[in-house]
Amino acid sequence: MFTNVVRCTNCGQRNRVPQIASGTPRCGKCHRPLPWIVEAGDDDFAEVVEGSAIPAVVDFWASWCGPCRMVGPALERVAEDLAGRVKLVKIDVDRSPKLSERFAIRNIPFLMVVSGGKVAAERAGAAPAPELRGWVEQAIASAGRGNG
Ligand code: ZN
Repeated sequence: MFTNVVRCTNCGQRNRVPQIASGTPRCGKCHRPLPWIVEAGDDDFAEVVEGSAIPAVVDFWASWCGPCRMVGPALERVAEDLAGRVKLVKIDVDRSPKLSERFAIRNIPFLMVVSGGKVAAERAGAAPAPELRGWVEQAIASAGRGNG
């Protein structure tokens, strides 16, 4: 299974985080929730994103896309701010043709919030971290209301 290494925002400890977990990853040293940042693609989208126990923020990007290089770090900041509440999933569109077709992705960066297996919100284009954080929080809140 693919694992990613993230730095704990509380104590600086580097931790491995799995793509899939029943709970949310915590720092091995200080036990605070870790920013959950992973990658996925055509083969594991269902498991990593649609099957996620907490809302997933999906970042469709490509290495040649300039705005993607701005959105990437901004989303990582959002994942740090909302550690324990969201999972950030990066998807390289060049390596995920089925997902690109399924979601009819024409412009990247293309972002989605998936909660309980359903798309709660989507948007295209770059934005600064505070704006993206507000957008994600709103999507999570409205998805929560929809379930209740
Ligand atoms: Zn820590």
